[in-house]
Amino acid sequence: MLIGSFASAGIDSKRRAAPLPRPIANMKTFTPDSSIASDVIPSANFGERNKGRLPDMILLHYTGMPDVEGAIAQLCTVGTDVSAHYIVLEDGRIVQCVPEAKRAWHAGVSSWAGEDDINSCSIGIEIVNRGHDWGYPDYPRRQIAAVIALCRGIMLRRNVPSHRVLAHSDVAPSRKKDPGEKFPWHSMANSGVGHWVQPAPIVRGDGIKLGTISDSVRDLQQALARYGYGVPVTGKYDSTTMEVVTAFQRHFRPLRVDGIADHSTLVTLQSLLASLPAEFMAVAAR
Ligand SMILES: [Zn+2]
Repeated sequence: MLIGSFASAGIDSKRRAAPLPRPIANMKTFTPDSSIASDVIPSANFGERNKGRLPDMILLHYTGMPDVEGAIAQLCTVGTDVSAHYIVLEDGRIVQCVPEAKRAWHAGVSSWAGEDDINSCSIGIEIVNRGHDWGYPDYPRRQIAAVIALCRGIMLRRNVPSHRVLAHSDVAPSRKKDPGEKFPWHSMANSGVGHWVQPAPIVRGDGIKLGTISDSVRDLQQALARYGYGVPVTGKYDSTTMEVVTAFQRHFRPLRVDGIADHSTLVTLQSLLASLPAEFMAVAAR
């Protein structure tokens, strides 16, 4: 596939797709792992997966930048120290920047299910969206359809379980909000990508707030940690716990993202845990 050729991307013929930035000269190109990636723009920023760890997680991001050219330059240019395996444009085109076998640099300081080298165990997908700092537009349906198709392929090829398709904010709750509460996790799950349950309705009543010390805080922290979140079980609703609850809401109860563990948040978390596949529960019980 020629770089800069979009013939296979199915672009609306009335509207010519904007050309992608040229790849950096003398960067070695490669054959895309995904058959639906229309272009390859090789990134300079990647390494080997530590201890030969095979990826079994997909981490979703938004680019959080005002334009796509800047985002691609950021993810591919030597010296920025960031990259992702894939970039999904708003019109649904998919660009691969790092081969899946390699370790891309997208997660930063993060943790999930006891692991903290998330870059070694995951495949990173950057979804072009300006993000919270630049007006946070809705994700176009065409773009989401492309993310779904890309993820389904990776899940099949790499044996990634649904509950390991996660948000950057899930693995780095104190630093990150992406892909954010507008990301349609329910549509993704309806198409077989990601683990999701219908959130419990929001009802009147107090929730657990910052500063509370109680057994119910301990139970909440235990439940969040069992699902995979990096939260210490202390019994105190501290700022770390509040950030993790905020990340949980952004992903699983997006109607209200306030960091207060209300009844709906607690019930949604319980039903999420109850609906995990049996093999996950067996591992968690060890
Ligand atoms: Zn991110």
